[in-house]
Amino acid sequence: MSDCLFCKIVAGKIPSKKVHEDEEVFVFHDIHPWAPVHFLMVPKVHVPSLAHAGPDHVGLLGRMMALAPKLALEQGCRPYPEGGFRVVVNTGAEGGQEVHHLHIHVMGGPRPWLKG
Ligand code: 5GP
Ligand code: ZN
Repeated sequence: MSDCLFCKIVAGKIPSKKVHEDEEVFVFHDIHPWAPVHFLMVPKVHVPSLAHAGPDHVGLLGRMMALAPKLALEQGCRPYPEGGFRVVVNTGAEGGQEVHHLHIHVMGGPRPWLKG
């Protein structure tokens, strides 16, 4: 999608602070972090939201969720159960979604946080 902000970040047309990249997933720091650790996990393919997920996305979404704890620890979240992290997928207008390319927020680190 040529006019999608996160497709442009995936393509390197807009700079980002990269956390991880593989064949199907791109992960980068949120530009306005709510928490000491706050990164976004996006599929490289343009999926507008979690509302668009179906049987074709089961593997991709499972791999993204399974990658989250490893990256959270690497980025400085303390281990479970004292530490941990929060995973959020805002979906649609009433779900608070602002960028319409599916993304998983991963937030963690010592409190207080800016939000949440
Ligand atoms: P949403 O509200 O759609 O769930 O979250 C979108 C997130 O993308 C927000 O937390 C916002 O700070 C982040 N964001 C928006 N524009 C950019 C950008 O250009 N670069 C980065 N790294 N994050 C962005
Ligand atoms: Zn996109």
